[in-house]
Amino acid sequence: MIKAFEDLVSNRHDNAIKWKNMGKSVFGYFCTYVPEEIIHAAGIIPVRMMGGSDDITLADVHLPSYVCSFARSCYDQGLKGVYSYLDGVIFPCTCDTIIALYSIWKADIKTPYVGFVDPLCAKTETAKKYFREEVARFKESLESFLGGEISDTSLQKSIEIYNANRRLLKEVYELRRSSHPPISGVEALDIVKSSMLTPKEEHSRLLENLLNKISERDDPPESGVRILVSGSVIYDPEILRMIENSGGLIVTDDLCTGTRYFWDLVNTNLPPLTGIADRYYERIPCPCNYSPERRLEHILSLIRDYNVEAVVFTLQKFCDPHLFDYPFIGESLKEAEISTLLLETEHVSSPLGPLKTRIEAFLETIQ
Ligand code: SF4
Repeated sequence: MIKAFEDLVSNRHDNAIKWKNMGKSVFGYFCTYVPEEIIHAAGIIPVRMMGGSDDITLADVHLPSYVCSFARSCYDQGLKGVYSYLDGVIFPCTCDTIIALYSIWKADIKTPYVGFVDPLCAKTETAKKYFREEVARFKESLESFLGGEISDTSLQKSIEIYNANRRLLKEVYELRRSSHPPISGVEALDIVKSSMLTPKEEHSRLLENLLNKISERDDPPESGVRILVSGSVIYDPEILRMIENSGGLIVTDDLCTGTRYFWDLVNTNLPPLTGIADRYYERIPCPCNYSPERRLEHILSLIRDYNVEAVVFTLQKFCDPHLFDYPFIGESLKEAEISTLLLETEHVSSPLGPLKTRIEAFLETIQ
């Protein structure tokens, strides 16, 4: 039941090649600020760029080692041809690394369509208007590449499909509020990541099946210190597994591969393109969208609703936006008397030995 989600993550490239062989187009996107509904409405399958667990070899020739290992891993896989099935790839103008990667990818990898979307940091009516125009420009750019219009009817249908998947993911997260959650943090990560790598209609069917059958589960995760994990993309679940094998139980998160991906819905009372633009403009912000107060509100409400006992920050080394937000968020949590632990990690977590000792010592202070 839950293994199906893990398999979707492991088999993501084979699955994408299978869809291509069935005549579908597949686009990669780099961040949760890319309005997937527009890609879906164009009849394309959007898949999140995740990089992989292979050693980074080719990218290190082109990129300095102080670039985050998530970006280096994705680029490395691009150079090795792992993403050669993509018909397009879309970069959001979020952090400096991703903005620079747009030009490098365009020059080196030669994916047929290479586009961008510029989500704004400013929170003003003018900025909101600008972002609506930016989303319209992105739609036109796709239409011009595809040679056809993306209709309002298609957008409306895609919004409904995406909102349905977000509601189901929220239902799965609701289960984790219980004193004995039936799903571990490692499993929840696979469930959300697979949503980014699978046609939403198929993923929603799997979620419905999970929600129908989860009460029959006879091997739920062991109880432990209730943890919220905060950070950017987590591809490799090893760090979460280590937390859960050391006496913790991850009950919720503030991750790009977690709540920040699906928490907000598109308002279906607005014209479709406006609804999509506003959803991405007003969503729970990522640190790249510098609004730490709003992010703190989200974290505090999760702490309250999920009865969280401690927060673990898993920050990618050299990720400036997250490291920039951390002092404000970390200090604010300390003032609220919430225990926190900061772990700096790589895209693929190795070696984890020194972190294990710190995690165990931290959890012992709370138990
Ligand atoms: S936000 Fe951080 S982890 Fe994500 S691409 Fe930028 S530097 Fe890397």
